[in-house]
Amino acid sequence: MAIKPTEVLSVLKQEIEKISVETKAIESGSVIQVGDGVARIQGLPKAMAGDLVEFQNGVKGYILNLEEDNIGCLLLGPDEGIHEGDIVTDTGKILSVPVGPELLGRVVDALGNPIDGKGEIVTKETRNVESPSPSIIYRQPVSVPLQTGIQAIDALIPIGRGQRELIIGDRQTGKTSIAIDTIINQRDKNCLCVYVAIGQKMSTVSQIIDVLNKYDAMQNTIIVVASASDTAAMQYIAPFAGCAMGEFFRDRGQDVLCVYDDLSKHAVAYRQVSLLLRRPPGREAFPADIFYLHSRLLERAARLSPELGGGSLTALPIIETQAGDASAYIPTNVISITDGQIILESSLFNAGVRPAVNVGLSVSRVGGSAQVSAMKKIAGPLRIELAQYRELEAFSQFSKDLDKATQDQLNRGEHLVEFLKQPVHECMSVVDQIIVVFASTKGFADKLEIKEVSGFESLLIKYFHKKHPDFIKDFEKNLVMNDEVSKKMSEIIEEFLARIYMPRYHSAELKAQKALEELKEKQGKVTLDMEEEE
Ligand code: ATP
Ligand code: MG
Repeated sequence: MAIKPTEVLSVLKQEIEKISVETKAIESGSVIQVGDGVARIQGLPKAMAGDLVEFQNGVKGYILNLEEDNIGCLLLGPDEGIHEGDIVTDTGKILSVPVGPELLGRVVDALGNPIDGKGEIVTKETRNVESPSPSIIYRQPVSVPLQTGIQAIDALIPIGRGQRELIIGDRQTGKTSIAIDTIINQRDKNCLCVYVAIGQKMSTVSQIIDVLNKYDAMQNTIIVVASASDTAAMQYIAPFAGCAMGEFFRDRGQDVLCVYDDLSKHAVAYRQVSLLLRRPPGREAFPADIFYLHSRLLERAARLSPELGGGSLTALPIIETQAGDASAYIPTNVISITDGQIILESSLFNAGVRPAVNVGLSVSRVGGSAQVSAMKKIAGPLRIELAQYRELEAFSQFSKDLDKATQDQLNRGEHLVEFLKQPVHECMSVVDQIIVVFASTKGFADKLEIKEVSGFESLLIKYFHKKHPDFIKDFEKNLVMNDEVSKKMSEIIEEFLARIYMPRYHSAELKAQKALEELKEKQGKVTLDMEEEE
């Protein structure tokens, strides 16, 4: 359409009227210093702690320090592209991560970005990384067990859903293994898992992922990784992000288990960023609010009241000690925050007692009320006998000739310790655990040699399942231990000993063979002695 020259003006006017210019005021500041993963900013008078800011090149920052004339923030990306004088804007948002069932089976970084090469994760919701913990009126007592599948723990240091139980020990004492076994054991227990790896080597993390895949436990697990090569800021955020992902399910009435592996490295990462931001160092150079850091993380573990859906979030934080020193700053902090601790010792681990749980010092303060009642009943004697054994063990080293009662007690103790040994990643069902604890505390295996114990244990369990499936089925339903059940169990074990175990493993032939071997050994010695004489 041609426009006449006389119309040009009116057309232009019309077009201009259509344009609407909206003005929006954006508060901006500028970078005054950047480096080592932190930046200082001038301006942004309305910014609040925990806000997200955005730098000119798109990198985000997380405000940690508010000072009179500047703001200190953590960089959530590389600091190379940020320079002095760059413009910074306040996004008005709080740091949040994607949450939802889409994350299950995936490996993500501290911001929820996938790092497993399995493609983008599209979630419907996001959740603030930091959120208040449920107040006391929204909680109910812990009363449902969280089975770890590890006999020594389920029998003596039971954990309940919604509890916070610390796993503490030196390096290489099996801390991670306990947490991973617990995750594996949740496969069919209707409990989702979040494993947060903080400051670990990427190779260790990928081994853990392989194990979870191998045991079919990955599909209900989220893995959040801030490895040793990630920035301290990422390591600092990771457990909070993992917790937020868990809370999503908790608030929908589901049960969740969160493992923080480990909080010692988390504390070190926080110390690093705090010192870079020039916060005053306190004990062991940690900032003064390090206790608050871990308590606000672990307080988010809870069992919610029925009105809120009754979901739960159980936390298993891990702490690494140096030479068993549990009185250092971070260990004492986390011990006092949690509802109990599983103490692992390298001396036990090296002596072959694995899992290396020190059952004397380890405690679970609230799990007792969540323990399966049958287990609770038979684990009482186990605890006492183990305690007595430990007492006698020390002084039996000095005196050779002990009375019969003491010898028996020592013998029983040795057997009990042997029974509590369990290979890694071999979870036991609660019924199997009860059978084994029953057989061991009632002394059915006292006459066996120590090295026979593990074979006896597995054969006994097999026997129960194969020959008495009805008993197992009935028992599984109620999980109560009364006189009737106890009598029946004793009968089955006696039957097993008489019909299977003793004939097969202590037969006349076997004994003859053993005697022959002993004789041969003796003869060998005799000739040797003679040779020496010659
Ligand atoms: P780190 O301090 O390096 O994190 P950690 O305390 O987490 O170590 P793990 O990595 O769990 O220890 O275990 C150390 C080694 O001990 C592993 O090789 C593991 O296979 C072995 N291990 C752990 N538990 C048992 C067990 N019950 N039986 C046999 N071996 C075990
Ligand atoms: Mg570990």
